[in-house]
Parts: sequence; structure tokens; C-alpha cells
Amino acid sequence: MTTPPETMPPAPHPAAPAPRAEVMRIAAYVGGEGRLEGVNRVIKLSSNEGAFGPPPGAMAAYTKVASEIFRYPDGASSALRAAIGQRHGLDPARIVCGTGSDELIGHLCHIYGGAGTDILMSMHGFTMYQIAGTYAGSRVIKVPERNLTTDVDALLANVTEATRIVFVANPNNPTGSLLAQAEMERLRAGLRPDILLAIDAAYAEYVEDPDYDPGVALVDAGDNTVMLRTFSKIYGLGGMRVGWAYAPAGVIDAINRVRGVFNVNIAAQAAAVAALAEPGWVEKGREHNARAKARLSAALQQAGIKVWPSHGNFFLADFATPARAAAADASLRARGLIVRAMGAYDLPHCLRITVGTDEECGLVAEALTAFMHTQQHG
Ligand SMILES: *Cc1c(COP(=O)(O)O)cnc(C)c1O
Repeated sequence: MTTPPETMPPAPHPAAPAPRAEVMRIAAYVGGEGRLEGVNRVIKLSSNEGAFGPPPGAMAAYTKVASEIFRYPDGASSALRAAIGQRHGLDPARIVCGTGSDELIGHLCHIYGGAGTDILMSMHGFTMYQIAGTYAGSRVIKVPERNLTTDVDALLANVTEATRIVFVANPNNPTGSLLAQAEMERLRAGLRPDILLAIDAAYAEYVEDPDYDPGVALVDAGDNTVMLRTFSKIYGLGGMRVGWAYAPAGVIDAINRVRGVFNVNIAAQAAAVAALAEPGWVEKGREHNARAKARLSAALQQAGIKVWPSHGNFFLADFATPARAAAADASLRARGLIVRAMGAYDLPHCLRITVGTDEECGLVAEALTAFMHTQQHG
């Protein structure tokens, strides 16, 4: 008998604990990379993190809380919910905080989904819905889009007796597309009242469309719509893991029964409260994003790359073929620039580029312009 090399996982004992079948059907989420072999300065534009790092006040609050970290946090995140309520004009009793909005997506799937139920999402919607829905035991149905935009008619056409939740990211990640408020209202009106509509507005702060509503009006209009928000994008706190939901009382009550009792840690609560109080932070982020996104998009189009319009702090660059997108990705990596490959989103011909600082956007423009030059002439 030969000894297997140490890197091989041991063969499972036939009686080893077996995960539920649906667990093994889940492809683990692959986050944006942040490291490149042999490159000193890596510029990470792969996870839609805000362009300016964390708010200075949030960093100060994080440091200040250090002597308190032996204490359990406030399990109700009371101060944070009050601050969110104040900032957005919402009742704190209708807010629940989570370890990122990812935690809340998971709870919704387990609370309202499960074996024998369907969860609907759009074809190029956020992967977490598929992972969380499958884990809960639901069948997750990916509904075709039109022009890389959620198709309300297609969603409604896929509703069955078994449908329990419809997830819509608005704006959507990774496509950047936005559904008009009238379309969101038409979707809600077309769904049975017992179907939960989960509106994921992770990029709400970046939207410039004056008609945009991140979901508040639809939450207020009934007992069956939830709005999800996050501190991971414009607020620059992805590493702290803070998200929140604004929801009808019944949904809040259900989540509070099952969420991690101390789900938002003491440093995360302090940093998020301070981030909300940072003067001009959101305005600065939104204004920079609009300007830098337009400039970078124009530069790429100038270089002959198709760019999909986006309402978030990222956009899809469309290279027409998977091979060309992979070659573009390789040439970016050679310069230390990491963007997001889109194979997992069924868009292998695209790369998703996060809008960084002006300098970072300039480097992307330069790299892709040079890349396109090699494509045309070599
Ligand atoms: C980034 C993102 C989130 C945020 O997830 P967190 O767990 O709060 O960091 C949620 N939904 C979408 C569509 C996202 O792109």
C-alpha cells in the first residue's frame, strides 16, 4: 500500500457525516481577489468597495471601542438602528441589523423558503440569493432578463403555487441595471400578497435617478416587502460586516427569532454609527462615482470596448467573447489591476470593474486602451 500525498484529502469513511444533498449542489461563493503573485502594488477593483476607504470618523470610533471589546455587544443594535432611523426617516422598530446584508438574505430564505418552495431571481442577479435559497432547501429559479435588465413580465410568468420569495437587486449587481419605480410597483402588484418581495438596495446611495426609491414606499405599502441595505459599499465598511433590513413588523419579528443573538459586533456597531454621522461622506462618494464612472466608461468606449450603463459604483465592460475578456483580464493583472471575471454570473465575455479613485480609473483606462491596441494590430 502506498501512502497518499499529504495534500490529498482523506477518503471519507463510508459512515462519515454526509451534508444534505442541496449543500453539495452549492458552488462556494468566490469573492473578488485582492492579491497577485509577484506584484507589489495591487489595485483591487473587484468587490465594489467604496473608492475612498472607511470614513475617518468610523476609524476613530473603531479604535476608541478597543477597551470595550471584552463586553458583549448590544444584541439589539439599538444605537445603530436609532441612527439609521434618524438618517433615513424610518421607524427603528422596523429595522433589523445583520452581519452584512448577506446574513439577512440567508434568514429570509430559511424563514420563508425551504423544501417544496420556489425562490425567484433574475438570470444575472446577485449570487447570494442562489446560495442562500438552495441551502434553505428551496428551488431557486433564475428568470431570463431583457438587455441585462430584470424582466418583470418574466418574473411574474415564473410564479407558481410554490413561489415564496422574489429577490430583486435594484440597482442590480453585476449588471448595474435599474428598474424604474413604476416597474417595481407593477412587480409587487402582480405578485400574490403571500409572496415576499425582497428589494436589495445595496447600491442605493449611488443612484442619481430622481424617481428612484430604494424600496421604502413598497415596504410601507403592505406586509410583504423587505428592503435590504448595507454599509459595505458607499460607507466603506465591508470588513466590518454590517447590513440592515427595513421590513414589516411580522418580518422583523421572524428575523429576530432566528438571527445571531449578537450578530453585529461591538466595533461594527460603533463604526457604522460613526459612518452615518460623517459629514458629506455619501454626497462625496456619489459625486465622485458619477464623474469617475462617466469618465472611465467614455475612455473604454473610445478604446472600442462596449460598456453597459450602470447605476452602481461598478460597470460591465463587454469584450464580446470569453477569450477576449480573459485576455483583457490577464493584461490588467500584469499591471496589478484586479477586476472581477464574470463566468460565475454567466457573463464570461464581460469583466466587472469597480469605480475606484481617479488615479485607479486612469490606470484601468490606460491598461485597457493598450490592450485593445494589441487586439487591433497584433
Ligand atoms: C455587495 C452586495 C451586498 C452587500 O453584502 P454585505 O453582506 O452587506 O456586505 C448585498 N447585495 C448586493 C447585490 C451586493 O452587491
